[in-house]
Amino acid sequence: MTAPPRALDPLTYFPAPRLQHFCSQCGTPVTYRVPADDNRERALCDHCGAVHYQNPRLVVGTVPVWGEHVLLCRRAIEPRHGYWTLPAGFMELGETTLQGAERETQEEAGARVEMGNLFTMIDVPSAEQVHVFYLARLLDTDFAPGPESLETQLFLEADIPWEELAFRTVSTTLELFFEDRRKGSFGVHTPTLAPLRAAVPAGS
Ligand SMILES: [Zn+2]
Repeated sequence: MTAPPRALDPLTYFPAPRLQHFCSQCGTPVTYRVPADDNRERALCDHCGAVHYQNPRLVVGTVPVWGEHVLLCRRAIEPRHGYWTLPAGFMELGETTLQGAERETQEEAGARVEMGNLFTMIDVPSAEQVHVFYLARLLDTDFAPGPESLETQLFLEADIPWEELAFRTVSTTLELFFEDRRKGSFGVHTPTLAPLRAAVPAGS
């Protein structure tokens, strides 16, 4: 007898796993092998011929600025429920990175912004993601938390809740933002984040 599927807490963060068992076109079980003229394993369907590629995901967002302040949102969703973040989310099909960043700012913070320059593009290979943040200027202070945020708040640099930030790409972007602001000019930064737990055996 098979156990009934475990009920999922609606707050549980549960993206579909990367590992694919069935062809998304015809439902036949896939096999993992290296296709001709390729150099790594893909999920192949021997029934309809589909090759299923898996590629990194793009997260797009903004650094919304109001005078000396930066707007942050406190997350109402997993992962990192209750932690503070810059408005950002997964890019949708059919939009540009700039449009996605502006949309996420509107959805998560209810904020209207004038979009500025690209600021950070952060590679996170361990999470199979790239995070892209644009500078943005708030057009007014008429913002409000969207369904994915508990609250939205303007912060001075001295008041940023560094210990309660949701993601390293957010803290990295904020550190670079305040550093550049002190210098008086904003560059484009492209750091790579190392895996959180270094794969170094104990004792070595
Ligand atoms: Zn198929």
